[in-house]
Amino acid sequence: MVEPTTSCEDAEHKKRSSGPFSVAPKEELLYSLEVDGSRKWIDPVLSRGPFWRIRLALGWVLIATFVLAPHLNIGGKPGIFLDLGNRQFTFFGATFHPTDSLLLLAFGVLVILTVFAVTSVWGRLWCGYACPHPVYLEFVFRPIERWLEGSPSQRRRRDGGPWTLGRLGRKSIKWLFYAAISTILACTFVAYFVGWPTLCSTLISAPTTHTHMLAAVGLTAILVFIDFAHFRDQMCTVACPYGRLQTVLYDCDTVIVGYDKKRGEPRARKRDRDDSSGDCVDCGRCIATCPTGMDIRRGLQMECIGCAQCVEACDEVMLKTDKPTGLIRYTSLRELDTGKKKFLRPRVFVYGVLLVLVGAALVGMTAARTHASAELLRSGREPFRELPTGEIANMLRVRFTNNLPLRQSFTVVLAEPKGAELVVSQSPFVVDADAVATVNVVVKLSETMFKRGRADGVFVIESDAGVRIEEAFILLGPYR
Ligand code: SF4
Ligand code: SF4
Repeated sequence: MVEPTTSCEDAEHKKRSSGPFSVAPKEELLYSLEVDGSRKWIDPVLSRGPFWRIRLALGWVLIATFVLAPHLNIGGKPGIFLDLGNRQFTFFGATFHPTDSLLLLAFGVLVILTVFAVTSVWGRLWCGYACPHPVYLEFVFRPIERWLEGSPSQRRRRDGGPWTLGRLGRKSIKWLFYAAISTILACTFVAYFVGWPTLCSTLISAPTTHTHMLAAVGLTAILVFIDFAHFRDQMCTVACPYGRLQTVLYDCDTVIVGYDKKRGEPRARKRDRDDSSGDCVDCGRCIATCPTGMDIRRGLQMECIGCAQCVEACDEVMLKTDKPTGLIRYTSLRELDTGKKKFLRPRVFVYGVLLVLVGAALVGMTAARTHASAELLRSGREPFRELPTGEIANMLRVRFTNNLPLRQSFTVVLAEPKGAELVVSQSPFVVDADAVATVNVVVKLSETMFKRGRADGVFVIESDAGVRIEEAFILLGPYR
């Protein structure tokens, strides 16, 4: 069952339901299902207009960004490289390590807040204009289908007929194209995690030496192929959780694609029209062009991805029938009800303030990010060891994170307690550009230096790039 999607207050909801505009009534079926429960293949007719041209341009910018980002070379690093194995994440020249977890957390929160704010104010702008699924489906896979198999009506006619050589040939070539593009997209996706040089070198070596990578590419390619060749609109209407999220993010003033019922109803076809007829000529073009197969005239529904194809189709009909465009348009529930728009409302302020706060925190943390950081960790299986000389030894590890794109040499000195001896396995310790490395150190001190089993240590870590870090660390000894 498709539920109407609205989060307006009950009172307004009731008012709207009894007024000229109401949210969609409950339906018996998903638009993608036949009465017997079988799949209803949605084959939309393309409507070209100003919104489609914006979507096309933006779509190709996004496709180019996705494909080119791992190939880019910024300061000797790939544009985007999510090196999970080494726990390093590179974004356009900057490499982040696990020690930057707060920064990454702030970035994640900013992304989530932005999604919430954009959805709350502009509805499914992301779905209609930037989501990879509609972008690839509408601007890569469907154009190939239209090129090889013709318009939706031609396809339907062929698909309803017998399997001729021509039909088999067209389908085979289409699927070959789909398979090739799916493989390229899968390789690009995997390259984000392993890098193109590694991917290329492993793909041209013997398959038995890199079965994991082959499996990752193969599985991703199969999933992409199934999604775009078969699953299609169901990804938006059945699988994607974001469509459902709208229910709690929308309000009466959220921008939606809406049908002006006051103006359009009572709808009537050309032959049945009289003076009381509304502007809708019941041509069905808005349904035929909809990539999710929905009827926008039933009101706001979860299936609407805000692509404005119905807007373009209906505007064309309005122009042909000498009526003003905008019977279906970007609007809001309030505007459809009352004719009034309202942009500034409490949630806009709340999201605005939160975005500014988190954004400022992110900028502050980025600015405060030092050229390097160091972490002291206890190593060995025992907290301390009593040496034959009578001294107490603490085994430690120092983990250096080099945030610079050049090598740094680190030295470690024990400033406190005085009289303790520090043994470093390697000094100075060289850490490669944008890398994390660990060195073992041992602190030896007399038993008399401990009070109640502990002594306060202070380590000074310096690098040839001018970094100076002071780290306090509690040294453990016998409790006597
Ligand atoms: S109803 Fe209109 S805006 Fe919504 S998905 Fe269908 S064509 Fe796109
Ligand atoms: S395209 Fe416009 S005129 Fe045609 S059915 Fe849809 S709303 Fe009515």
